[in-house]
This record gives sequence, structure tokens and C-alpha cells, in this order.
Amino acid sequence: MRLLVLPGDGIGPEITAASMPVLQAVSERFGLGLKIDEDVVGHESLKQHGVSVRPEVLEAARKVDGLVLGPTAAFEYKGEINPSMFFRKSLDLFANIRPARTYPGVKLRAGEFDLVVVRENTEGFYADRNMESGGSEMLVTKDMVISLRRITRHCCARIARAAFELAARRKKHVTAVHKANVLKRGDGLFLEECRKVAKDFPGVTMDEIIVDAMMAHAVRNPQRFDVIVTTNMFGDILSDLTSELSGSLGLGGSLNAGADHAMAQTAHGTAPDIAGKNVANPFSLVLSLSLLLAWHGRRKGLKAFEAASDAIEKAVEQAVAAREATADVGGSLGTRDTGAALANRLKA
Ligand code: ATP
Repeated sequence: MRLLVLPGDGIGPEITAASMPVLQAVSERFGLGLKIDEDVVGHESLKQHGVSVRPEVLEAARKVDGLVLGPTAAFEYKGEINPSMFFRKSLDLFANIRPARTYPGVKLRAGEFDLVVVRENTEGFYADRNMESGGSEMLVTKDMVISLRRITRHCCARIARAAFELAARRKKHVTAVHKANVLKRGDGLFLEECRKVAKDFPGVTMDEIIVDAMMAHAVRNPQRFDVIVTTNMFGDILSDLTSELSGSLGLGGSLNAGADHAMAQTAHGTAPDIAGKNVANPFSLVLSLSLLLAWHGRRKGLKAFEAASDAIEKAVEQAVAAREATADVGGSLGTRDTGAALANRLKA
């Protein structure tokens, strides 16, 4: 498997450097033959090349089996491309898979739970990606802005299918989160497609919850959820809540997947408040890499990749329980040592 690694900004380079020994350890133990190329995006690319993403990087991304993107500080580039949006849109990475589960040894905030948010990634309210060209926010007068939300049957159907396929491999329940009481047409269409896809999965049950009520249910009783499917912005917000409820944003792995490409990318951002201090938790990126290996294994029928992914998740669980981790999850190690200790655990 060939990977292209783009460390990004803020804590990105630190957590990426700490995660690479983990990849090497599983590559050797499970005979994965991982080949890792590295390039730059974001501030480093601006410094070296004068642009936030070079076209060659996209060409390289199309050729590899998986992309690894660290968090990027897109709002700082002013007029430059947001790499995260750029790869999601260019490679049609329509499904953003964001698992959230509690770990033994991490303080519980809402009891034990294990769920996955499946978020549509290519349309919705996201003005930077929902138009063929141009953005979908318009300055009508200097005091008035109109923002458009795009919802298509095609995108609703494929995200619903991704959610049901995942639920069929898990606890066999899907919750469709929507606001169809107000956004009657857009979210009505989303629900219609979820209900249609549900008919193809008789072994998976589905319920529907309005997004505002969902916030209360997620905090009160996250145990009741398995796979939660929703549109772009609701999924973005909800998955930060579920990730934090699980213990820390630093445990929030995330995969952006399409039909032909996938990109591991943490659910959290660049965390400028802790950048350069060697305290950031690398497990979010490690867990994202684990999702990428599992995606590749399922797609290519390569069991070793799925086994490597399971081993990483188990090792993270053991490391957290043993406090061989960063301070946000109760440990006392720095970023680098946390990655090195996890790699050693995986070699054993
Ligand atoms: P951005 O503007 O890039 O989104 P942010 O700081 O606004 O950055 P996040 O990066 O998502 O948003 O961080 C939110 C909070 O979670 C911050 O207090 C940050 O320090 C913490 N955090 C995020 N990622 C990690 C991590 N990997 N390890 C420890 N703490 C983290």
C-alpha cells in the first residue's frame, strides 16, 4: 500500500511524526509493505512554493492507495485553497466516518458508548464545496448575505448506503439525524433516501431524530446509538460533541472515503493553543490511520490490513488504560514518546 502523507499546520507535523513509527510497526508485523511518500500543504507549502496546495500534490494523491492529511489552518491562508476541502472535493470523498467510543481508564462523561457518525462531506451548507465553481455565499448588499445549502438525491442515497453498510458490520442500527420539520424539502429528501436504502437492509433497523433533540439524546444516552447518518454541517457539529463525550478530541479518528480514494484526517483542528509543545495527543491521527488501513483491506480483500487496524485499536485502548499517553487522556508522556510507546506495544 502506498501512502501520501501531508503533515499540515499547527500540531499536524508533531502528531504525524509521532504516528509514523506506529505505521512502520504494523507494516512489519503484518507484512503490509507500506510505502510512505511525504509532501507539504498549508503554511509549509506557502513558504516553499507560494501556494497552499500544488497541482502535483493532487496528481500524486490520485495515484496512491491512501492519503494522510494533518489538520490545516485554512482560514489563515487568505484567498488560498483550503487543502481539506480541496481533497474532499477533488477526490469525491463523500463519506466522513467519525467513530466515537469510550476507553477504559478515561473519565466517563456520559457513560460507556461506541458509535459512529457518518457525515455527508461534499454538499450541504458548505459554501466552499457545494457548487461546481464559485462559492455559495453571496454578499447581496454590504449588510446582507445569502448562503445556499445544496442537497441532492444522489449524495443522500450514497451517504445513507455507506451508513447502512457500516451498521450491517456493527450493531445493526442506523439513526438518521435531520431538521425536516423546518428544512422540509432538503431534509425531507435526505430522509426519503434513507428510508429507501433501509429497505435493502432488512437486518438493520432505523430511527429518525431531529437534530436539536439529538444533542440532548447524545449527551443523555449515547449508548442507544450505533451508526448516525446526517448531512454535512449537522455531522460536523455532532461529531465534535460525540468525540469530546468519549473523553477527548484527541481520541477522535476520522476517515474521508469515496468510491476510489480515502483520506485519513483527524476530526479535530490545528489546536494552535498547544502547537509545538509536544503535548498533543497523536491517537486521533493513529486511529484515523487505522480506519484507512481497514478501508484498504476491505476494498482489496486483504485481511492483514484489517488485522493491523484491529491491532492498532486494541493497542490504543491498552495504552490509554496504562496511561501510556498524553495528559488530555490522563497520561504524562509527550507526543513523541506516546507514538514511540505505542509502536513498541505493536511490535510485541
Ligand atoms: P482550528 O482553528 O484549527 O479548528 P481549534 O483550536 O479552534 O483549531 P481544535 O484544534 O479542534 O480547534 O481544538 C479544540 C480544543 O481541543 C483545543 O483546546 C485543543 O487544544 C484541543 N485538542 C485538539 N486536538 C487535540 C489533540 N490531538 N490532543 C490534545 N488536545 C487537542
